[in-house]
Amino acid sequence: MGLLSLGTPLHWTESRNYAEHVRENGVEQLINCFAAAKARENDPFLWGDEVEYMLVSLDKSHKTARLAIDKDYILRDLGEDGSFYELATKNNVLFHPEYGRFMIEATPLRPYHGFDVKDYTYVEENMAKRRQIAVGQLGGSNVVPLTLTSFPRMGVDIFTEPAAQANGEASKSLFLPDEIINRHFRFPTLTANIRRRRDQKVSINIPLFKDEHTNLSVPDPTIPRRDLFPYNDEEAFLGAAKPGHIYMDSMGFGMGASCLQVTMQASDVRQARFLYDSLVNVAPLMLAVTAAAPIFRGHLADQDVRWNVIAGAVDDRTPFERGEPPLKGHKERGNTTDSAVLQRIPKSRYDSVDQYLGDIDASGSEFSYFRKEYNDIESPINSKVFAKLVANGFDETLANHFAHLFIRDPIVIFTESIHQDNLTETDHFENIQSTNWQTLRFKPPKQNAVPGNDDVPGWRVELRPMEISITDWENAAYADVSILLALAVLKYKPNFYLPISYVEANMKTAHRRNAIVEHKFHFRTNIWESGPAKVAQLSLDEIFNGGAAFEGLLSLVRQFIKETWEPAATGKLDAYLKLVSYRASGKIPSTASYIRNFVVSHPDYKKDSIVSEQINYDLIDTIARLSKYEHELVSDFFGPELGKWLIENKY
Ligand code: ADP
Ligand code: MG
Ligand code: MG
Ligand code: MG
Ligand code: MG
Ligand code: MG
Repeated sequence: MGLLSLGTPLHWTESRNYAEHVRENGVEQLINCFAAAKARENDPFLWGDEVEYMLVSLDKSHKTARLAIDKDYILRDLGEDGSFYELATKNNVLFHPEYGRFMIEATPLRPYHGFDVKDYTYVEENMAKRRQIAVGQLGGSNVVPLTLTSFPRMGVDIFTEPAAQANGEASKSLFLPDEIINRHFRFPTLTANIRRRRDQKVSINIPLFKDEHTNLSVPDPTIPRRDLFPYNDEEAFLGAAKPGHIYMDSMGFGMGASCLQVTMQASDVRQARFLYDSLVNVAPLMLAVTAAAPIFRGHLADQDVRWNVIAGAVDDRTPFERGEPPLKGHKERGNTTDSAVLQRIPKSRYDSVDQYLGDIDASGSEFSYFRKEYNDIESPINSKVFAKLVANGFDETLANHFAHLFIRDPIVIFTESIHQDNLTETDHFENIQSTNWQTLRFKPPKQNAVPGNDDVPGWRVELRPMEISITDWENAAYADVSILLALAVLKYKPNFYLPISYVEANMKTAHRRNAIVEHKFHFRTNIWESGPAKVAQLSLDEIFNGGAAFEGLLSLVRQFIKETWEPAATGKLDAYLKLVSYRASGKIPSTASYIRNFVVSHPDYKKDSIVSEQINYDLIDTIARLSKYEHELVSDFFGPELGKWLIENKY
């Protein structure tokens, strides 16, 4: 999450009246940023990661694992005005708030240097420091920060410590109390305004893993019946909950999940666009290889990752925009004030990238791989914004990208920041930009990022699909490999373009249970040619480790390391590559299959798809021990070779 504005957030009924104001001024701000920074060049390749943690209370005597919702004071203490801010910054660490009151995010304070080989091992050290500092702040309590993608029992009975009831006005959820939401007004308002704009609660239906004794009766007996709000009969009578699915009704199920993100700075805008486009199809592959989320709302899912849960959790589209009839008893309505943005919208504002940015500007360049026909999926735009950007010097492909982001309404507007100076402020642009949550984010610099002003960031690209892994070692490995792949792409300039509809298909495949070993992904194989794509269906093993059709992403990475640093490359870096390689080939289990296996082989599992409180406790306890590299667990999880290496070499 970005910086938190202070002030008074507007209810949707008021905020909608300012939606066009925010868009109009947001575009002005973007145009000013672009004008200031478009001639920037030779920025160094800096990068940084973001890790999200859940604070989990482990009660060994009662054998319960619950989300701690009363420890968020540690963020105040570690934040800018807090007494431990210095401790964090001295260690080059920065803590940030997240959606959940039980969540924290941490990043390096200063970004790493892409061409400094030491930084690739320092990442893990920095991550370990973050965990240590957070543990220190929790002061010997039984609460631990864990890097879990989804909390297995979220939304089942009492799952918080202290206990809270689901009866909140913000989410109106049957499952999630509002007390799990960050106390800052922005977050309950975001939750409520998404629901209000949509004109009903969000409804997320994830395929349920069906075992021998799975209860498939309708309505789902695990959905509590309450009469707290008029919304509540939706589940049972209005069809929001689909049979054979895990139904969830609140933003917290998605935004309460954790992930790993990396942001990198390109030398200039043109390189940033090429990098972004090159990573478009890498994104679903990184999602699949990091798969870590097989359980939602206490049930085993028939999928392995979090992504579509978050997409559903913040889907503020009206039934009209989704192209669905309204729920029974609800009126059809557009629910927006501006006809320029009233249209059918195929996807949630949290979803995969819809369009390539294009790798050339009007003057042409050494990169000329992009073809307009690669943008082959329906991706509506705000035509007013498009026209305005083109009139201000944006080429059509880039204008399209931003005009697509601007089909959305701002969800939270603060009274105090309605009137902005478009020459120095960017809140309105950021309001739209930062609530379009896609697999990649193209981060333009600010208005003061004129050429030569190196103190402020330049053109950045953020890779956002990865699930969070249990150990710092894995998170460091995935972050490093993504960055090294990006650098290899910039150096060798492979052509990864393929029609983006294939990327959409890959996103779906990445969700599937055991996708790593059982399913194939579309990949361009003629990567050293500039013509149309030759597309093959390959396993993750073939894509990462290479095969007959393609030399493999990791071989590009290895070549880059060898040419850049040999003999300085360390054993640690090699082990990171092995981890990704072994996960991609299925030689060692994904986090998702490890967790799924843990559940189905637990003595308390009744072949009913249900993750009981007892299983939940044992699983979380095991994950907590794994995060401390307990020996016998490490060998089991990473296999004998990497397990042994890790025990001898862990940070
Ligand atoms: P957001 O949540 O908007 O993605 P964060 O501030 O949480 O932003 O994370 C941004 C990441 O980018 C951090 O890891 C940070 O260290 C890194 N970073 C900061 N400045 C630069 C830069 N100039 N180039 C690349 N990465 C940067
Ligand atoms: Mg975050
Ligand atoms: Mg962040
Ligand atoms: Mg963010
Ligand atoms: Mg987030
Ligand atoms: Mg981020």
